[in-house]
Amino acid sequence: MNLDYFPEDVKPHIIPEVKGKMVYRCLGCGAQYPIEHLLYVCPDCSEVLLIHDNNAADLKRIPGKLWQKIFDFRKMLKLPALKGIYRFHEFIGPNIPLDSIIYLGEGHTPVVEANDALQNKIGIRFFYKNDGQNPSASFKDRGMASALSSIKFLLDQNKISNVMAICASTGDTSAAAALYASYLGDKVKSAVLLPHKKVTSQQLSQPLGSGAHVFEIPGVFDDCMKIVEHLSATYDVVLLNSKNAWRILGQESYSYEIAQDFNWDMKDKVILVPIGNAGNISAVMNGFIKFYDTKIIDCLPKIIGVQSEHADPVYQYYLEPDKTKREFIPVNTKPSVAQAAMIGNPVSMPRVIQIAQKYNARAGSRRVFVVQVDEQSIIDSQLLANRNGHITCTQGGECLAGLGVALKKEIINSDETAILDATAHAIKFSEFQDLYFNSAIPKEYKIASNHDNINLPSLLMPDDRNLVPSQKKRLGEKDFQKFVADMSDKIALRLNLEIST
Ligand SMILES: *Cc1c(COP(=O)(O)O)cnc(C)c1O
Ligand SMILES: [Zn+2]
Repeated sequence: MNLDYFPEDVKPHIIPEVKGKMVYRCLGCGAQYPIEHLLYVCPDCSEVLLIHDNNAADLKRIPGKLWQKIFDFRKMLKLPALKGIYRFHEFIGPNIPLDSIIYLGEGHTPVVEANDALQNKIGIRFFYKNDGQNPSASFKDRGMASALSSIKFLLDQNKISNVMAICASTGDTSAAAALYASYLGDKVKSAVLLPHKKVTSQQLSQPLGSGAHVFEIPGVFDDCMKIVEHLSATYDVVLLNSKNAWRILGQESYSYEIAQDFNWDMKDKVILVPIGNAGNISAVMNGFIKFYDTKIIDCLPKIIGVQSEHADPVYQYYLEPDKTKREFIPVNTKPSVAQAAMIGNPVSMPRVIQIAQKYNARAGSRRVFVVQVDEQSIIDSQLLANRNGHITCTQGGECLAGLGVALKKEIINSDETAILDATAHAIKFSEFQDLYFNSAIPKEYKIASNHDNINLPSLLMPDDRNLVPSQKKRLGEKDFQKFVADMSDKIALRLNLEIST
């Protein structure tokens, strides 16, 4: 829309200016470091970092209601740089000039309400936010758009060159990293480390297709992560795991979008997020806190993290009700269909602990919870959701299973409205669906295929085997008509079709 048409109070703010005094801030000792250098852990105490805007207080000078208006009007702009997560530029990366922003179509994913039948079955009003509809088909694109835009900004200023970007991945981080790096052409090469046979073939195909160096490593994700940490401490590489604080910053957009999609009203809202490395739940909480502090929203939604019983270190940590006695102990994971979240030693655990505490303190009561679900309920919930018009991955199924548990445990009640994170597209995890439908899920998963959920294709053949068309040999006109009639009859019989009158 033409800038002249915008309301007078919005006009001065509609195109964001480059501002912000961004620094890395250590979660351990509080030390601050300039963002002109690439940094992943505190050089002093080795704790993880978050990016902090020392000018954040300035954001409060604009009233919350005006912010809402700015973001609502900004939707109408046709500038690609502001079409994705940077619609919230002042909160996502105010130091990044618009021409350093990489936009590949990420963010602003659909929020889809469950149909009546599914809501009645679960017993609460709920929506899926389809983060599988991001460019590489998972929410990881939000963090990668932020991380690679910050890298492009450093490249544009000649502060870095010849970047080798690396990450460990349960599948989706590598897909996103390779995609965004490939967009920058020769300037940024990428290498990804994947646990051998612990990512789906669809996920493996993604970084291969983007031209990344792909290394398969024996073991699980946690083992790959240690190698990546060693590489980044020893060699000149750029780390793209969620240890990279820019990733967290970009993923905060998920919360901003929910606030906007629900017309800035977070009363009685509940957000469910699967937890793996715990980067996403950290970002989601942090995003809501920032909008709350600037009065863009006037209450904080409940946050429920969900973990499988086969990879539940965060759940175990919060089982101890006494804060002072809580102790984080990494777990040994077991096979999980929520494979993208199958992590025993989450990198962002210190972030979760600090941010959850801050979140509860801001809200004035406990608003952050973690629930545990079993493998059977994860996949059955995924299949149920997808039979009702959704396109969720197994981790989104985990959220739906978690919703049931949260209701049962009375962490939430049926008057509230839940928003579930479908963190990736169903297609990425179709291998688990195939195994389930063929009753072939290995027993370590502890999943039995429920007969009612199974769906398999039926191969139909004509009675007369001479009437089979092929590319090599087309049938003659008469034979082909016989073939069509015969196959139609067979299908009609299977579907109990009645002849139309
Ligand atoms: C990465 C990932 C998760 C886990 O997110 P964390 O930030 O690691 O907690 C969940 N679901 C999918 C599909 C993912 O790719
Ligand atoms: Zn420190």
